[in-house]
Amino acid sequence: MTQSLLEMAKELVTEQIRKNHVSSDAAQSLLRDTHATLQNLHRMEVASTAPMSTQAPEEDTPDAWKRSITKYTIRCMECGDSFKQLSTRHLRIHDLDARAYRVKYGIPRTQALSSLTATARRRELARQIRPWEKAASMRSTAKNKAKTSAKK
Ligand SMILES: [Zn+2]
Repeated sequence: MTQSLLEMAKELVTEQIRKNHVSSDAAQSLLRDTHATLQNLHRMEVASTAPMSTQAPEEDTPDAWKRSITKYTIRCMECGDSFKQLSTRHLRIHDLDARAYRVKYGIPRTQALSSLTATARRRELARQIRPWEKAASMRSTAKNKAKTSAKK
């Protein structure tokens, strides 16, 4: 969409130059302005139908890490590699440990650095190993399940 807006802006500006309304010196800034205006118009148009798409690009949002964790993988925010879980051993490559990594990317301390299924499996194992915590663990699993299905 951005590309076609740019094309549109370019055409408009070229038209102005052809008609000698604009010097080629001024064309650059006019192109920028026209493009920005078109972009704003587009944004407003999009905002009225889908508010989510007006959000800033992924890397600029403080919650970018949320997208790095998917059902089967966690993507290292440092190098972009995907793993089942982000090990301390791997983070050491980037001169980080789990704590520093969380701080750097604003990840909550309670967030496991592993894929969603790996996290769920570990929780399940913990439940089996520590039956006295069964009730509490089942409560939180149910809560998570509700959260997951609500998203779908
Ligand atoms: Zn990495």
